[in-house]
Order: sequence, then structure tokens, then C-alpha cells
Amino acid sequence: MRNISKTVDAIESSLTLRIDSKAKAMKKEGKDLVLFTAGEPDFDTPQAVKEAAIEAINANFTKYTKSSGIIELREGICEKLKKDNGLEYSPDEIVVSNGGKQALFNIFGAILNPGDEVIVLTPAWVSYSPQIKMWKAKPTEVKTYPENDYLPQEEDLEKAITDKTKAILFNSPNNPTGAVYDKRTLEMLAHIAQKHDLYIVADEVYEKMVYDLPHISIASFDGMKERTLIINGFSKSHAMTGWRVGYSVASLNISKQISKIQSHTTSNINSITQKAALKALSVDTKYMMDEYKKRRDLISDMLSNANFKFFKPKGAFYVMVNMTEFLTDEKNTEDLCMELMEKAGVALIPADAFGAKGFVRISFATSQELIKKGINRLIEYLK
Ligand code: GLU
Repeated sequence: MRNISKTVDAIESSLTLRIDSKAKAMKKEGKDLVLFTAGEPDFDTPQAVKEAAIEAINANFTKYTKSSGIIELREGICEKLKKDNGLEYSPDEIVVSNGGKQALFNIFGAILNPGDEVIVLTPAWVSYSPQIKMWKAKPTEVKTYPENDYLPQEEDLEKAITDKTKAILFNSPNNPTGAVYDKRTLEMLAHIAQKHDLYIVADEVYEKMVYDLPHISIASFDGMKERTLIINGFSKSHAMTGWRVGYSVASLNISKQISKIQSHTTSNINSITQKAALKALSVDTKYMMDEYKKRRDLISDMLSNANFKFFKPKGAFYVMVNMTEFLTDEKNTEDLCMELMEKAGVALIPADAFGAKGFVRISFATSQELIKKGINRLIEYLK
């Protein structure tokens, strides 16, 4: 047999999705398990959004649409960008995709040539590096540390930049650290991008989940709109993970490339979902965000009272806990997570694959009651 793609063969499948399905399968088989695995809101998709989808079906809105998405939705996204982020874009600069994941994959395809380097600020979500590699480019990891509130440092970036560096990718609010980049950090990133003529890929999918400081889009800084590519979506903001709807925001020349990629791969996203997303733009989900803040406070208090080592998240719905004291040469974080799942009845994600060796990620997109139950199980088992 001829060999297969070395690039794809060298990539791991998504760890978050893999562990989440394993935990869900165990639960289905009757195992008493509290899931802190996938970053998936436990809220139902708002009723008005579901009804818009039903109406779309009944109105036979079930055929191809423009590959980049229906004009009303792209116009609505432009209004959102203006209102929430102070950004002026035209509908041709938006491409609606199958979740933020596809938007990101399209963006990399639009800007990367083989051998280009992308700086990935870590700890980072598990899908960034594989996506970069799939376009035959190279992710360069630049670490951030809890001592600096997981904010990137200028000297670390300067050291990592080479003449092959094409872009800096970051995610704020951050999965998995819970960091939120403040104005000063964003100004530093903007300065570096301009100095070295780099793109910024800004994953803003958690923008609504900020607890201590506001979310600012780096594209709103002077001279940054042209070089910033934004990814966003409805999965987290409107509890719509299964609908698969996200989007990219980029200047017209890049959006044209993004549209080309999408037109040859998936075409438009589900037509019904597009109508649902259009409705979602007018549905206020502050009640969800207020509840996440309560959960953030609850989980932080519980972990802190039990003397766990962690960074109190300022945004998103994850907390990373340092587990090194419970690890040995024979037991890494993945082994520990398996043990916790089987013996303590609590499912966590090992954060090594996020670039945080010795840490686990806890998603608190689950009820306060389950947070109490799950964290108490963790305390009883480990402490
Ligand atoms: N982004 C979420 C997470 O990190 C969803 C799962 C995934 O796509 O990786 O858990």
C-alpha cells in the first residue's frame, strides 16, 4: 500500500472531544460521574432561537445559501461588531462557518504558506497547533505563566519571532487558563505585530464571559484592523455548540480567500442554523454570563479553601489546577484523570496537551450543585 499523509498521521485527534466522549459513554453506562470535561454550556439554547429554526424549516428555508452565509446574518454580525466591539466591517468581510473551528482553519489557509511560523501563546486550546500543521506551517509555542496572570511578555515574544513568523495567535478570554488580556498587554501585542509586520489571529469566542475586566478587541486599536483576523461564534455565547455556527472577520482581500476555501470544502453552513443564529443576535444571554460568574466564584472558593494551587480565572469557564503534588514518575496527569474518573467519580481534562504539564483543566460550564458535588469528590479523594 502507498503511504498516507505524514502531516495528518503526526497529528493527535482532539483530546478534549476524546475524553469528553469517554466520560459521556461511562455516564451512559450508569457510572456516577460529574463531568468537568468539554467546554460546553449546560444551558439550553434559548427558546426564541429554536423557534426561528423551526420556522425556517416550515418556510422551506432548506436549500443552498451563499457559501459565506446569508446577507442578513452577515449584516447582523457587522452590527454586533459595531455595538460590542466598536469595529466597522462590511458584510463581505464576514464568512459564516461551521463553528469557530472551521473559521480558524479557513483563516490559517488564507494566510499561511508551507514553512511559515505562527506564534501560539500557550497554554492553548488543543486544536490550534494541529490546524496550523495541516496547512504545512509551524506552530511556535510561547509560554505564559501563572506568575504573570498568564499574560504574554514582550521579551518572550521578541525571542520567538523569526523572519518566517507570519502571525501571532491568541485567545482572550483564554481556554484553558481563564486569563483575560488587559489593555496594556493588547497594546504590547499590537506594537509587536506592527513592528514585525505580523498578522494577529484573535480567537474571541469567550468574549462575553469576563468577570473582572472588560473584553477589548485588538482590532479596535489604531492600525490593527487590517492585520487582525477575528474568530467568533455562537457556541459559547448562546449555548449553541451542536448547531455549529461561528464566523471569521477579516479585511476584504483575506475574506475573499477564506470564502474560496469554504466554497470548495463545505459550502454554506446549515441554512436552518443560519436563521437560528440571526435570531440569536437579538437574544440577550446575560443571565448565562451572570451564572458563570457565580460558578467561577464558587469553584475558586472551594479550591482555595482546600489549598489547591490554581489561577483564579478572570474569564471563560475553565480553571486550571496544578496537580504536580499528586503525580509520580509512573503517574502523569492523564493517568491521574483516568484514576479520578474511575475511582472518584469526577471527569477532568489533563492539560498537558494544552502545554500545561502537571495541570488539569476543570470546565465549570455546569450547575453550582454539580460543581459542589464534583469538587467535594476531588477534595475527598485527593486531600
Ligand atoms: N472548545 C471546547 C473545549 O476546549 C470544546 C471542545 C473542543 O472543540 O475542543 O473543551
